[in-house]
Amino acid sequence: MVNEAYIRVWQKIDIELMKKHMIISGDPAGDCSNCREIGINISNTKICPNCGVEFKYMATRLQNNPSQAARMAAKRSDLIMVDLSDYKEALARENAKKIF
Ligand SMILES: [Zn+2]
Repeated sequence: MVNEAYIRVWQKIDIELMKKHMIISGDPAGDCSNCREIGINISNTKICPNCGVEFKYMATRLQNNPSQAARMAAKRSDLIMVDLSDYKEALARENAKKIF
């Protein structure tokens, strides 16, 4: 416990797959990245009530810092925590590739 810290880690990922299984948390509810359903309970919802995808990743619109990451991880140890700006940048790069 003494040596635990929250840091962002570089990982190769299928961004479309991540988008499909991402819940983005606001305060207090979250939304599904796959179908944009809003008002989802972020503390215990495993499956999107609208489109039925299983949530595997979570990002937050709240503060972008280690203590916020720790709070999210404590709330949802079943999900992989992702930095929202990293996620959005990767998605934008992928979308730009599709255009050209
Ligand atoms: Zn959905």
